[in-house]
Amino acid sequence: MKKVFALIDCNNFFVSCERLFRPELNSRPVVVLSNNDGCIIARSNEAKSLGIPMGAPLFKFKSLIERHNVHVFSSNFALYGDLSCRVMDVLRQIEANIEVYSIDEAFLSLPANKIWDRKRYVTELREKVRKYVGIPISIGIATTKTLAKIANRMAKIDAPSQGVFDLVDNSQKDSVLGKIDVSDVWGVGKRSTEKLHKHGIYTALDLKRADEIWIRKRMTVGGLRTVMELNDIPCISLQNAPVSSKSIVTSRTFGQPITDLDHLREAVISYASIAAEKLRKQGVEAQTLNVFITTGPFDQHYFSNNQTITLARPTSSTPELIAAALQCLKSLYRTDYKYRKAGIMLSGIGPGNKQQDLFPLSVSKEDKSLMAGLDKINRKWGRNTIQYGMTQATDKPWSIQQSQKSPAYTTKWQELPVVKTMDSNHEI
Ligand SMILES: [Mg+2]
Repeated sequence: MKKVFALIDCNNFFVSCERLFRPELNSRPVVVLSNNDGCIIARSNEAKSLGIPMGAPLFKFKSLIERHNVHVFSSNFALYGDLSCRVMDVLRQIEANIEVYSIDEAFLSLPANKIWDRKRYVTELREKVRKYVGIPISIGIATTKTLAKIANRMAKIDAPSQGVFDLVDNSQKDSVLGKIDVSDVWGVGKRSTEKLHKHGIYTALDLKRADEIWIRKRMTVGGLRTVMELNDIPCISLQNAPVSSKSIVTSRTFGQPITDLDHLREAVISYASIAAEKLRKQGVEAQTLNVFITTGPFDQHYFSNNQTITLARPTSSTPELIAAALQCLKSLYRTDYKYRKAGIMLSGIGPGNKQQDLFPLSVSKEDKSLMAGLDKINRKWGRNTIQYGMTQATDKPWSIQQSQKSPAYTTKWQELPVVKTMDSNHEI
């Protein structure tokens, strides 16, 4: 059956988390700061309309903040991580097939059936999240993830839509795309924007109609995927999706349910490794790590748990993140449940910290060059060529189900084709 995607995005998420416990701030301007209180990383609508830009250094807006009595919070990623898991939990209990994309965003895949009242369904979903967790969300619906992102943007700015905007079968689709700046299209970064502007591409609609050959040549395969998605051809999975700057989420549904702590450890080590590699690829570090485990939402014995650790200092080191993740897992785990999914979320992401710790822990220059070497080898020879202990083999029960997959004939010793001699006792 044809599917459509709904993108759920929590409104001004960090601010909404803070307001949940300080309702008197509900109509006041509020901002949240990055690690070390350097920059503004979240703004309430009131703060946005005062003209405080995203990512602005705090000191530049100090007088404006004082003048307008803006309430300023330092970031509290332990709180945001936990509330994020609660929002995702509510979504998961309604729609089992959710894909968590970032700390405040998740994609749902819904049937594209016209008879079915999609709008009503997602409006109810929105109300449930509001009622059970208290966080306001917006929902964008479209035939591809990139278009769902755009629909979500509309849900936020278009008042009559009341937080739900559907681009499927929408006769105004092209006029909506014409209003979206190309730099606001999912995955179009600063450098791509410059290139596109030079080529006369300014809006999402221009990009949709762009020449494919030119795109393929100048924007790489990622750019081509974006253009295809704007043309209603779904081709972005969360594995090849643009990385969110807010948080990095790595989670999978297990091939089969697992009960054993050791298997969960293997999965969690693998996710921490992937997430750490993503951090290093962007030259950033994370301050907070959150681990979650859950049974199937409709299992008879339902169980879901998550824990957040604030690291001693921001890091992108695989062994440090693995150690923190395993510490979380140990306290989360309960015996006798059939776990179906686990994941890791890194947040409090900022540029790599140059400052030396007064009491350095384990990260040293050697560790950094070890990580650089690890990434180089895995880039050249393929993911998981080198990996951390007890991880990442595809025959583990927690790995994604790929029952129809042919063996790795040419790249794995254990899966080399076996040639039989006439005498079957002698295999070569
Ligand atoms: Mg948001």
